[in-house]
Amino acid sequence: MIKFSLEAPVTIRILNCAAMSPWFPRWKLGAPCLLVETEQGLVLVDTGLGLHDYQHPSKMVRFFNLDFGVANDPENTAVRQLDRLGIPPQEVRHIVLTHLHFDHAGGLPDFPHAQVHVHRREYEALLHHNPWTELAYDRQDFAHAPQWVFYDQPTTQWCGLEAIPLPFSPSIYIIPLFGHTRGHCGVAIQDGQGWLFQCADALPTNAQFDLTPAWLNRLVIGPHVPTLRAWAAEHPEARLLAGHMWQSFFTTNDR
Ligand SMILES: [Zn+2]
Repeated sequence: MIKFSLEAPVTIRILNCAAMSPWFPRWKLGAPCLLVETEQGLVLVDTGLGLHDYQHPSKMVRFFNLDFGVANDPENTAVRQLDRLGIPPQEVRHIVLTHLHFDHAGGLPDFPHAQVHVHRREYEALLHHNPWTELAYDRQDFAHAPQWVFYDQPTTQWCGLEAIPLPFSPSIYIIPLFGHTRGHCGVAIQDGQGWLFQCADALPTNAQFDLTPAWLNRLVIGPHVPTLRAWAAEHPEARLLAGHMWQSFFTTNDR
């Protein structure tokens, strides 16, 4: 776990809430979930897998867990990691989701008291999902009827990108990056003088622009890699993350 704190009042902890090692390629991956202290309480950005994914996984999750070599350890869930930090689940007041795939939203039932902030287009994709393009939605993640808060059109710009401000201090924005799913978004979090920009599954693993070929990126993670690459060169104040980072990222970035 990384405690990522610059000179400012913000504390962002980066938890790895879905450790996996796919059969091919044999990468060792983790999925960052960001725990942000705000004036409105603790905000969790993506949840990773939840307890139910280990205790009674759906058929689809069992298939993906085998395929992606997900470590069979419920201690990796956000709720168990927070418990080890002495934080009860009801202290997580808000959850912001990049998208609703099971490896990003699986932990929702572990935080039933939280408001869940998501782009409306992503929720609608869940309701009317196409089983071929959105097969990684797991209905169990939403069976407890989360307290949704939906967002639609961008109302401002953040560092030149269309943005939707969320009601938190320090600032957090949803940045529409549709493509990986129909309503997939990035999440930008003010961190001192800079920003942490979770681009999630709009970027290749480890936020390495060249890691995977362009045709594969367009097919699996959407059209934003070239744009984000150019944007990142202009914005050194932002640290980009992807939805899946090397496991070594979670230890070597400790601070
Ligand atoms: Zn995804």
